[in-house]
Amino acid sequence: MTSQTTVKTLLILGASGDLTGRLLLPGLARLVARGRAGGLALVGAGSDPWTPDQWRTRVTEAFATAEAVADSDGRTALKDMAESTVYHQLDVTADGALAELLGNLAGPVAVYFALPPHVSQKACEVLQPDQVPAGTRLVMEKPFGSSTESARSLNQTLVRLVPEDHVYRVDHFLGKATVLNILGLRFANNFLEPVWNRDHIERVEIIFDEDLALEGRARYYDGAGALRDMVQSHLLQIMALIALEPPATIHERELRDAVSAVLRASAIKAPYAKSTRRARYTAGSIAGRTVPDYAAEEGVDPARNTETLAEVRVAIDNWRWKGVPFILRSGKALGNKRKEAVITFRPVPHLPLGFSGVDSPNQLRIGFGPDTLQLDMDVNGPGDIFTLDRATLKAELNASELLPYGEVLEGVLNGDPLLSVRGDTAEDCWRIIEPVLRSWGRDDVPLEEYDAGGPGPAGWLAVPNGAAGE
Ligand code: NDP
Repeated sequence: MTSQTTVKTLLILGASGDLTGRLLLPGLARLVARGRAGGLALVGAGSDPWTPDQWRTRVTEAFATAEAVADSDGRTALKDMAESTVYHQLDVTADGALAELLGNLAGPVAVYFALPPHVSQKACEVLQPDQVPAGTRLVMEKPFGSSTESARSLNQTLVRLVPEDHVYRVDHFLGKATVLNILGLRFANNFLEPVWNRDHIERVEIIFDEDLALEGRARYYDGAGALRDMVQSHLLQIMALIALEPPATIHERELRDAVSAVLRASAIKAPYAKSTRRARYTAGSIAGRTVPDYAAEEGVDPARNTETLAEVRVAIDNWRWKGVPFILRSGKALGNKRKEAVITFRPVPHLPLGFSGVDSPNQLRIGFGPDTLQLDMDVNGPGDIFTLDRATLKAELNASELLPYGEVLEGVLNGDPLLSVRGDTAEDCWRIIEPVLRSWGRDDVPLEEYDAGGPGPAGWLAVPNGAAGE
Protein backbone atom coordinates (compact mmCIF):
# COMPACT_ATOMS: atom_id res chain seq x y z
CA MET A 1 0.00 0.00 0.00
CA THR A 2 1.26 3.47 -0.84
CA SER A 3 1.22 6.15 1.83
CA GLN A 4 0.95 9.81 0.92
CA THR A 5 3.47 12.28 2.30
CA THR A 6 2.45 15.54 3.97
CA VAL A 7 5.07 17.38 1.94
CA LYS A 8 4.23 17.54 -1.75
CA THR A 9 7.57 18.64 -3.22
CA LEU A 10 11.09 17.77 -2.15
CA LEU A 11 13.44 20.46 -3.45
CA ILE A 12 17.09 19.41 -3.24
CA LEU A 13 19.50 22.34 -3.43
CA GLY A 14 22.95 21.05 -4.36
CA ALA A 15 21.73 18.59 -6.98
CA SER A 16 25.23 17.87 -8.30
CA GLY A 17 26.82 17.42 -4.87
CA ASP A 18 28.28 14.38 -3.15
CA LEU A 19 25.66 14.16 -0.38
CA THR A 20 22.83 14.23 -2.90
CA GLY A 21 24.26 11.47 -5.09
CA ARG A 22 25.67 9.17 -2.46
CA LEU A 23 23.20 9.44 0.41
CA LEU A 24 20.08 11.53 -0.22
CA LEU A 25 18.84 10.06 -3.49
CA PRO A 26 19.49 6.43 -2.43
CA GLY A 27 17.69 7.18 0.86
CA LEU A 28 14.74 8.64 -1.03
CA ALA A 29 14.77 5.66 -3.39
CA ARG A 30 14.17 3.24 -0.50
CA LEU A 31 11.16 5.26 0.61
CA VAL A 32 9.74 5.35 -2.89
CA ALA A 33 10.42 1.65 -3.45
CA ARG A 34 8.52 0.80 -0.26
CA GLY A 35 5.49 2.88 -1.24
CA ARG A 36 6.21 5.42 1.49
CA ALA A 37 6.51 8.54 -0.68
CA GLY A 38 3.18 8.61 -2.51
CA GLY A 39 2.21 11.93 -4.12
CA LEU A 40 5.68 13.41 -3.79
CA ALA A 41 7.41 15.37 -6.58
CA LEU A 42 11.20 15.64 -6.70
CA VAL A 43 12.91 18.82 -7.87
CA GLY A 44 16.67 19.37 -8.10
CA ALA A 45 18.48 22.68 -8.22
CA GLY A 46 22.08 23.78 -8.44
CA SER A 47 24.43 26.34 -9.88
CA ASP A 48 25.56 24.00 -12.71
CA PRO A 49 23.98 24.52 -16.15
CA TRP A 50 22.68 20.94 -16.23
CA THR A 51 20.26 19.77 -18.88
CA PRO A 52 17.06 18.12 -17.59
CA ASP A 53 18.48 14.80 -18.86
CA GLN A 54 21.67 15.11 -16.83
CA TRP A 55 19.66 15.43 -13.64
CA ARG A 56 17.28 12.61 -14.59
CA THR A 57 20.24 10.35 -15.32
CA ARG A 58 21.68 11.12 -11.90
CA VAL A 59 18.35 10.32 -10.22
CA THR A 60 17.86 7.13 -12.26
CA GLU A 61 21.34 5.88 -11.38
CA ALA A 62 20.87 6.56 -7.66
CA PHE A 63 17.38 5.00 -7.72
CA ALA A 64 18.78 1.79 -9.24
CA THR A 65 20.19 0.98 -5.80
CA ALA A 66 16.63 0.39 -4.51
CA GLU A 67 15.32 -1.79 -7.31
CA ALA A 68 16.36 -4.97 -5.57
CA VAL A 69 14.09 -4.19 -2.59
CA ALA A 70 11.15 -2.95 -4.67
CA ASP A 71 8.10 -4.91 -5.78
CA SER A 72 6.51 -4.10 -9.14
CA ASP A 73 4.56 -1.13 -7.70
CA GLY A 74 7.77 0.12 -6.14
CA ARG A 75 9.66 -0.16 -9.42
CA THR A 76 6.91 1.75 -11.20
CA ALA A 77 7.00 4.48 -8.53
CA LEU A 78 10.80 4.77 -8.85
CA LYS A 79 10.54 5.06 -12.63
CA ASP A 80 7.73 7.63 -12.42
CA MET A 81 9.65 9.85 -10.02
CA ALA A 82 12.87 9.62 -12.03
CA GLU A 83 11.03 10.50 -15.24
CA SER A 84 8.99 13.36 -13.83
CA THR A 85 11.72 15.10 -11.83
CA VAL A 86 12.85 18.52 -13.03
CA TYR A 87 16.03 20.55 -12.61
CA HIS A 88 16.43 24.30 -12.09
CA GLN A 89 19.68 26.16 -12.48
CA LEU A 90 19.99 28.94 -9.93
CA ASP A 91 22.37 30.65 -7.58
CA VAL A 92 20.56 30.20 -4.27
CA THR A 93 22.42 33.14 -2.76
CA ALA A 94 21.14 35.58 -5.41
CA ASP A 95 18.37 37.92 -4.25
CA GLY A 96 14.94 36.52 -5.10
CA ALA A 97 16.14 33.40 -7.02
CA LEU A 98 15.17 30.77 -4.46
CA ALA A 99 12.05 32.72 -3.50
CA GLU A 100 10.82 32.68 -7.08
CA LEU A 101 11.37 28.94 -7.41
CA LEU A 102 9.62 28.29 -4.09
CA GLY A 103 6.61 30.30 -5.21
CA ASN A 104 6.21 28.09 -8.29
CA LEU A 105 6.33 24.67 -6.63
CA ALA A 106 3.39 22.65 -5.32
CA GLY A 107 3.34 23.04 -1.56
CA PRO A 108 4.07 22.18 1.13
CA VAL A 109 7.70 22.11 0.00
CA ALA A 110 10.64 20.64 1.92
CA VAL A 111 13.80 22.52 0.97
CA TYR A 112 16.86 20.34 1.50
CA PHE A 113 20.03 22.44 1.78
CA ALA A 114 22.61 19.93 0.49
CA LEU A 115 25.03 22.83 0.08
CA PRO A 116 28.27 24.00 1.67
CA PRO A 117 27.27 25.40 5.10
CA HIS A 118 28.13 29.03 4.30
CA VAL A 119 26.04 28.84 1.11
CA SER A 120 23.04 27.42 3.03
CA GLN A 121 23.34 30.22 5.55
CA LYS A 122 23.52 32.92 2.87
CA ALA A 123 20.55 31.37 1.03
CA CYS A 124 18.44 31.58 4.21
CA GLU A 125 19.58 35.13 4.93
CA VAL A 126 18.43 36.41 1.55
CA LEU A 127 14.99 34.80 1.92
CA GLN A 128 12.27 37.04 3.34
CA PRO A 129 9.50 35.62 5.55
CA ASP A 130 6.77 36.60 3.06
CA GLN A 131 8.61 34.64 0.33
CA VAL A 132 8.31 31.38 2.22
CA PRO A 133 4.89 29.76 1.71
CA ALA A 134 3.10 28.40 4.81
CA GLY A 135 3.98 24.78 5.53
CA THR A 136 7.51 24.99 4.06
CA ARG A 137 10.11 22.81 5.83
CA LEU A 138 13.78 23.82 5.89
CA VAL A 139 16.22 20.93 6.13
CA MET A 140 19.73 21.85 7.29
CA GLU A 141 22.76 19.59 7.13
CA LYS A 142 25.58 19.32 9.60
CA PRO A 143 27.66 21.14 10.63
CA PHE A 144 24.99 23.44 12.03
CA GLY A 145 27.07 26.57 12.65
CA SER A 146 30.65 26.45 13.85
CA SER A 147 30.22 27.80 17.39
CA THR A 148 27.49 28.54 19.92
CA GLU A 149 27.28 32.07 18.60
CA SER A 150 27.03 31.12 14.91
CA ALA A 151 24.50 28.33 15.65
CA ARG A 152 22.40 30.87 17.59
CA SER A 153 22.56 33.35 14.75
CA LEU A 154 21.58 30.67 12.20
CA ASN A 155 18.69 29.64 14.46
CA GLN A 156 17.49 33.24 14.55
CA THR A 157 17.64 33.43 10.76
CA LEU A 158 15.61 30.22 10.41
CA VAL A 159 12.85 30.95 12.93
CA ARG A 160 12.31 34.26 11.18
CA LEU A 161 11.22 32.15 8.17
CA VAL A 162 9.37 29.12 9.59
CA PRO A 163 8.32 27.80 13.03
CA GLU A 164 10.93 25.75 14.92
CA ASP A 165 9.10 22.47 14.30
CA HIS A 166 9.40 23.08 10.55
CA VAL A 167 13.22 23.26 10.82
CA TYR A 168 15.00 19.92 10.44
CA ARG A 169 18.61 19.84 11.59
CA VAL A 170 19.73 16.51 10.23
CA ASP A 171 21.73 14.04 12.25
CA HIS A 172 21.67 10.91 10.09
CA PHE A 173 23.57 9.01 12.76
CA LEU A 174 20.40 9.05 14.79
CA GLY A 175 18.37 6.71 12.62
CA LYS A 176 14.89 6.09 13.94
CA ALA A 177 15.65 2.42 14.62
CA THR A 178 18.65 3.31 16.79
CA VAL A 179 16.74 5.91 18.79
CA LEU A 180 13.79 3.61 19.37
CA ASN A 181 16.04 0.63 20.12
CA ILE A 182 17.75 2.55 22.93
CA LEU A 183 14.46 3.81 24.33
CA GLY A 184 12.83 0.38 24.08
CA LEU A 185 15.72 -1.24 25.89
CA ARG A 186 15.77 1.35 28.64
CA PHE A 187 12.07 1.80 29.29
CA ALA A 188 10.44 -1.53 28.46
CA ASN A 189 12.57 -3.54 30.93
CA ASN A 190 11.74 -3.06 34.55
CA PHE A 191 15.02 -4.46 35.85
CA LEU A 192 17.14 -1.81 34.09
CA GLU A 193 15.71 1.53 35.19
CA PRO A 194 16.32 1.03 38.97
CA VAL A 195 20.05 0.48 38.30
CA TRP A 196 20.40 3.09 35.56
CA ASN A 197 22.13 5.69 37.71
CA ARG A 198 25.28 6.71 39.59
CA ASP A 199 24.68 4.15 42.35
CA HIS A 200 25.10 1.21 39.97
CA ILE A 201 26.84 2.45 36.85
CA GLU A 202 30.56 3.18 37.02
CA ARG A 203 31.09 4.66 33.57
CA VAL A 204 29.62 4.89 30.08
CA GLU A 205 31.74 4.81 26.94
CA ILE A 206 30.43 5.78 23.54
CA ILE A 207 32.89 4.71 20.89
CA PHE A 208 32.86 5.28 17.15
CA ASP A 209 36.17 3.96 15.81
CA GLU A 210 36.31 3.83 12.02
CA ASP A 211 38.67 1.88 9.81
CA LEU A 212 38.22 4.50 7.10
CA ALA A 213 40.97 7.09 6.70
CA LEU A 214 40.63 10.52 5.11
CA GLU A 215 39.32 9.09 1.80
CA GLY A 216 39.94 12.33 -0.13
CA ARG A 217 37.82 14.49 2.18
CA ALA A 218 40.65 16.82 3.32
CA ARG A 219 38.82 19.95 2.20
CA TYR A 220 36.10 19.39 4.77
CA TYR A 221 37.80 17.22 7.36
CA ASP A 222 41.06 19.11 7.86
CA GLY A 223 39.05 22.14 8.95
CA ALA A 224 36.85 20.06 11.25
CA GLY A 225 38.64 17.14 12.94
CA ALA A 226 37.16 14.31 14.96
CA LEU A 227 35.86 16.45 17.83
CA ARG A 228 33.72 18.70 15.65
CA ASP A 229 32.86 16.05 13.06
CA MET A 230 31.69 13.28 15.37
CA VAL A 231 31.62 14.22 19.05
CA GLN A 232 29.96 17.63 18.80
CA SER A 233 27.05 16.16 16.88
CA HIS A 234 26.48 12.43 16.82
CA LEU A 235 28.05 11.17 20.02
CA LEU A 236 26.51 13.82 22.27
CA GLN A 237 23.10 12.88 20.85
CA ILE A 238 23.65 9.19 21.64
CA MET A 239 24.86 10.16 25.12
CA ALA A 240 21.68 12.14 25.72
CA LEU A 241 19.49 9.16 24.75
CA ILE A 242 21.36 6.90 27.15
CA ALA A 243 21.15 9.43 29.97
CA LEU A 244 17.71 11.02 29.58
CA GLU A 245 14.88 10.83 32.10
CA PRO A 246 11.94 8.55 31.22
CA PRO A 247 9.65 10.44 28.83
CA ALA A 248 5.88 9.98 29.09
CA THR A 249 5.59 9.49 25.33
CA ILE A 250 7.93 9.22 22.37
CA HIS A 251 6.39 12.28 20.82
CA GLU A 252 9.01 14.75 19.54
CA ARG A 253 8.20 17.39 22.16
CA GLU A 254 8.65 15.01 25.10
CA LEU A 255 11.72 13.35 23.73
CA ARG A 256 13.50 16.45 22.54
CA ASP A 257 12.78 18.17 25.87
CA ALA A 258 14.41 15.22 27.66
CA VAL A 259 17.46 15.28 25.34
CA SER A 260 17.81 19.00 25.84
CA ALA A 261 17.69 18.66 29.67
CA VAL A 262 20.60 16.19 29.60
CA LEU A 263 22.73 18.40 27.38
CA ARG A 264 22.06 21.50 29.48
CA ALA A 265 23.45 19.61 32.49
CA SER A 266 26.54 18.44 30.58
CA ALA A 267 30.05 19.87 30.46
CA ILE A 268 33.63 18.87 29.80
CA LYS A 269 35.60 20.15 32.73
CA ALA A 270 39.10 21.62 33.01
CA PRO A 271 41.90 20.69 33.24
CA TYR A 272 41.49 19.49 29.66
CA ALA A 273 44.80 17.61 29.69
CA LYS A 274 43.00 15.29 32.11
CA SER A 275 39.50 15.23 30.65
CA THR A 276 40.43 15.02 26.94
CA ARG A 277 42.92 13.36 24.60
CA ARG A 278 43.66 13.87 20.92
CA ALA A 279 45.80 12.15 18.33
CA ARG A 280 46.56 12.01 14.61
CA TYR A 281 47.35 8.95 12.52
CA THR A 282 50.64 8.35 10.77
CA ALA A 283 51.32 5.99 7.88
CA GLY A 284 50.24 2.38 8.22
CA SER A 285 48.03 -0.18 6.58
CA ILE A 286 44.42 -1.25 7.03
CA ALA A 287 43.36 -4.68 5.77
CA GLY A 288 46.31 -4.81 3.39
CA ARG A 289 45.70 -1.29 2.09
CA THR A 290 48.53 1.22 2.51
CA VAL A 291 47.42 4.40 4.26
CA PRO A 292 49.65 7.49 4.01
CA ASP A 293 50.50 9.70 6.94
CA TYR A 294 47.53 12.03 7.56
CA ALA A 295 49.84 15.05 7.60
CA ALA A 296 51.14 14.14 4.13
CA GLU A 297 47.68 13.75 2.55
CA GLU A 298 46.81 16.12 -0.28
CA GLY A 299 44.90 19.15 1.00
CA VAL A 300 46.00 18.71 4.62
CA ASP A 301 47.81 21.55 6.38
CA PRO A 302 49.85 19.77 9.08
CA ALA A 303 50.25 23.03 10.99
CA ARG A 304 46.52 23.01 11.78
CA ASN A 305 47.14 20.05 14.10
CA THR A 306 43.81 18.53 13.13
CA GLU A 307 43.05 15.50 15.28
CA THR A 308 41.83 12.29 13.64
CA LEU A 309 41.07 10.73 17.03
CA ALA A 310 39.36 12.59 19.86
CA GLU A 311 38.28 11.50 23.31
CA VAL A 312 36.47 13.58 25.89
CA ARG A 313 35.06 12.89 29.32
CA VAL A 314 31.67 14.51 29.76
CA ALA A 315 30.18 15.15 33.19
CA ILE A 316 26.40 15.23 33.52
CA ASP A 317 25.74 17.23 36.63
CA ASN A 318 22.34 16.05 37.77
CA TRP A 319 21.00 13.78 40.51
CA ARG A 320 21.12 10.64 38.39
CA TRP A 321 24.59 10.97 36.87
CA LYS A 322 26.75 13.17 39.10
CA GLY A 323 30.28 11.67 39.14
CA VAL A 324 29.71 9.11 36.36
CA PRO A 325 32.12 9.72 33.46
CA PHE A 326 30.65 9.58 29.97
CA ILE A 327 33.62 8.94 27.71
CA LEU A 328 33.01 9.84 24.08
CA ARG A 329 35.59 8.77 21.53
CA SER A 330 35.78 8.76 17.78
CA GLY A 331 38.64 8.24 15.40
CA LYS A 332 39.66 7.39 11.86
CA ALA A 333 42.06 4.82 10.41
CA LEU A 334 41.85 2.46 13.37
CA GLY A 335 42.49 -1.25 12.96
CA ASN A 336 39.55 -2.30 15.05
CA LYS A 337 36.23 -0.96 13.77
CA ARG A 338 33.95 -0.37 16.76
CA LYS A 339 30.63 1.42 16.98
CA GLU A 340 29.07 0.91 20.35
CA ALA A 341 28.06 2.26 23.73
CA VAL A 342 29.41 0.30 26.68
CA ILE A 343 27.73 0.70 30.05
CA THR A 344 29.95 -0.64 32.82
CA PHE A 345 28.26 -1.43 36.12
CA ARG A 346 29.91 -1.15 39.50
CA PRO A 347 31.42 -4.33 40.96
CA VAL A 348 29.30 -6.34 43.39
CA PRO A 349 29.78 -5.04 46.96
CA HIS A 350 30.86 -8.46 48.21
CA LEU A 351 31.58 -11.67 46.34
CA PRO A 352 30.95 -14.62 48.70
CA LEU A 353 34.27 -16.17 49.70
CA GLY A 354 34.88 -19.50 48.05
CA PHE A 355 34.29 -18.42 44.44
CA SER A 356 37.23 -18.22 42.13
CA GLY A 357 37.73 -17.22 38.50
CA VAL A 358 36.65 -14.06 36.75
CA ASP A 359 34.76 -11.44 38.69
CA SER A 360 34.45 -8.60 36.20
CA PRO A 361 31.86 -5.87 36.32
CA ASN A 362 28.75 -6.43 34.21
CA GLN A 363 28.79 -4.62 30.92
CA LEU A 364 25.90 -3.82 28.65
CA ARG A 365 26.94 -3.13 25.06
CA ILE A 366 24.67 -1.41 22.57
CA GLY A 367 26.09 -1.80 19.06
CA PHE A 368 25.21 0.66 16.32
CA GLY A 369 24.71 -0.22 12.67
CA PRO A 370 23.82 -3.08 12.81
CA ASP A 371 22.04 -2.47 16.12
CA THR A 372 22.85 -5.18 18.64
CA LEU A 373 22.71 -5.76 22.35
CA GLN A 374 25.17 -7.70 24.47
CA LEU A 375 25.10 -8.28 28.21
CA ASP A 376 28.27 -9.64 29.81
CA MET A 377 27.59 -11.52 33.05
CA ASP A 378 29.49 -13.79 35.41
CA VAL A 379 28.04 -17.31 35.76
CA ASN A 380 29.16 -20.54 37.40
CA GLY A 381 31.05 -23.11 35.36
CA PRO A 382 31.16 -24.85 33.02
CA GLY A 383 33.53 -27.24 34.73
CA ASP A 384 34.20 -26.32 38.32
CA ILE A 385 30.97 -24.98 39.87
CA PHE A 386 33.01 -22.70 42.17
CA THR A 387 34.69 -21.00 39.25
CA LEU A 388 33.03 -17.96 37.71
CA ASP A 389 33.13 -17.58 33.96
CA ARG A 390 32.05 -14.87 31.59
CA ALA A 391 28.85 -15.44 29.61
CA THR A 392 27.46 -13.08 27.02
CA LEU A 393 23.78 -12.77 26.17
CA LYS A 394 23.35 -11.42 22.67
CA ALA A 395 20.44 -10.07 20.67
CA GLU A 396 20.03 -8.39 17.33
CA LEU A 397 17.84 -5.33 17.55
CA ASN A 398 15.37 -4.07 15.02
CA ALA A 399 17.00 -3.14 11.74
CA SER A 400 15.34 -0.54 9.59
CA GLU A 401 14.43 -1.43 6.04
CA LEU A 402 15.24 2.17 5.13
CA LEU A 403 18.74 3.60 4.85
CA PRO A 404 19.63 6.26 7.48
CA TYR A 405 18.82 9.03 5.01
CA GLY A 406 15.56 7.29 4.15
CA GLU A 407 14.60 7.59 7.81
CA VAL A 408 15.68 11.23 7.93
CA LEU A 409 13.65 12.04 4.82
CA GLU A 410 10.61 10.13 6.03
CA GLY A 411 10.51 12.36 9.12
CA VAL A 412 10.80 15.47 6.96
CA LEU A 413 8.18 14.37 4.44
CA ASN A 414 5.67 13.36 7.12
CA GLY A 415 6.18 16.41 9.30
CA ASP A 416 7.76 14.54 12.23
CA PRO A 417 10.80 16.32 13.65
CA LEU A 418 11.50 13.56 16.21
CA LEU A 419 14.89 12.72 14.69
CA SER A 420 15.87 16.29 14.01
CA VAL A 421 18.15 18.21 16.38
CA ARG A 422 16.24 21.05 18.07
CA GLY A 423 17.67 24.56 17.89
CA ASP A 424 18.58 24.89 21.59
CA THR A 425 20.27 21.48 21.52
CA ALA A 426 22.38 22.43 18.50
CA GLU A 427 23.65 25.45 20.43
CA ASP A 428 24.30 23.42 23.57
CA CYS A 429 26.40 20.85 21.71
CA TRP A 430 28.76 23.66 20.66
CA ARG A 431 28.74 25.12 24.18
CA ILE A 432 29.91 21.75 25.54
CA ILE A 433 32.91 21.35 23.23
CA GLU A 434 33.99 24.98 22.75
CA PRO A 435 36.27 25.15 25.83
CA VAL A 436 38.04 22.02 24.56
CA LEU A 437 38.53 23.51 21.11
CA ARG A 438 40.06 26.60 22.71
CA SER A 439 42.32 24.52 24.94
CA TRP A 440 43.50 22.36 22.03
CA GLY A 441 44.08 25.53 20.01
CA ARG A 442 46.48 26.67 22.78
CA ASP A 443 48.21 23.25 22.65
CA ASP A 444 47.39 22.58 26.31
CA VAL A 445 46.76 18.95 25.34
CA PRO A 446 49.48 17.10 23.40
CA LEU A 447 48.62 15.83 19.93
CA GLU A 448 49.60 12.15 20.16
CA GLU A 449 50.25 9.86 17.19
CA TYR A 450 49.12 6.37 16.21
CA ASP A 451 49.80 4.09 13.28
CA ALA A 452 46.99 3.82 10.75
CA GLY A 453 45.48 0.36 11.12
CA GLY A 454 46.69 0.01 14.70
CA PRO A 455 44.74 0.07 17.98
CA GLY A 456 45.32 3.80 18.62
CA PRO A 457 47.99 5.50 20.71
CA ALA A 458 49.66 3.43 23.40
CA GLY A 459 47.54 3.33 26.51
CA TRP A 460 44.31 4.53 24.93
CA LEU A 461 42.59 1.19 25.14
CA ALA A 462 42.46 1.57 28.88
CA VAL A 463 39.98 3.85 30.60
CA PRO A 464 41.32 7.42 30.22
CA ASN A 465 43.10 9.27 33.00
CA GLY A 466 41.02 9.44 36.10
CA ALA A 467 37.93 8.27 34.25
CA ALA A 468 36.75 6.20 37.16
CA GLY A 469 36.06 9.38 39.06
CA GLU A 470 35.40 12.95 38.12
P1 NDP B 1 29.52 19.24 -2.35
O1 NDP B 1 30.58 20.28 -2.38
O2 NDP B 1 29.78 17.90 -2.96
O3 NDP B 1 28.20 19.80 -3.05
C1 NDP B 1 27.72 21.09 -2.81
C2 NDP B 1 26.63 21.43 -3.82
O4 NDP B 1 26.23 22.77 -3.60
C3 NDP B 1 27.05 21.32 -5.28
O5 NDP B 1 26.00 20.69 -5.97
C4 NDP B 1 27.16 22.78 -5.70
O6 NDP B 1 26.88 22.97 -7.05
C5 NDP B 1 26.08 23.41 -4.88
N1 NDP B 1 26.24 24.87 -4.73
C6 NDP B 1 27.30 25.54 -4.21
N2 NDP B 1 27.07 26.86 -4.23
C7 NDP B 1 25.81 27.04 -4.75
C8 NDP B 1 25.00 28.17 -5.03
N3 NDP B 1 25.41 29.42 -4.75
N4 NDP B 1 23.78 27.97 -5.57
C9 NDP B 1 23.36 26.70 -5.86
N5 NDP B 1 24.08 25.59 -5.63
C10 NDP B 1 25.30 25.76 -5.08
O7 NDP B 1 29.09 19.10 -0.81
P2 NDP B 1 28.47 17.82 -0.08
O8 NDP B 1 27.39 17.27 -0.92
O9 NDP B 1 29.56 16.92 0.35
O10 NDP B 1 27.89 18.46 1.26
C11 NDP B 1 26.68 19.21 1.32
C12 NDP B 1 26.31 19.41 2.78
O11 NDP B 1 26.09 18.15 3.39
C13 NDP B 1 27.40 20.08 3.62
O12 NDP B 1 26.78 20.87 4.59
C14 NDP B 1 28.09 18.90 4.30
O13 NDP B 1 28.71 19.27 5.52
C15 NDP B 1 26.91 17.98 4.54
N6 NDP B 1 27.24 16.57 4.68
C16 NDP B 1 27.88 15.91 3.67
C17 NDP B 1 28.18 14.57 3.81
C18 NDP B 1 28.86 13.82 2.72
O14 NDP B 1 29.18 12.65 2.94
N7 NDP B 1 29.08 14.41 1.57
C19 NDP B 1 27.82 13.82 5.04
C20 NDP B 1 27.12 14.61 6.02
C21 NDP B 1 26.85 15.92 5.83
P3 NDP B 1 28.06 23.47 -8.03
O15 NDP B 1 29.10 22.42 -7.99
O16 NDP B 1 27.35 23.57 -9.30
O17 NDP B 1 28.50 24.78 -7.48
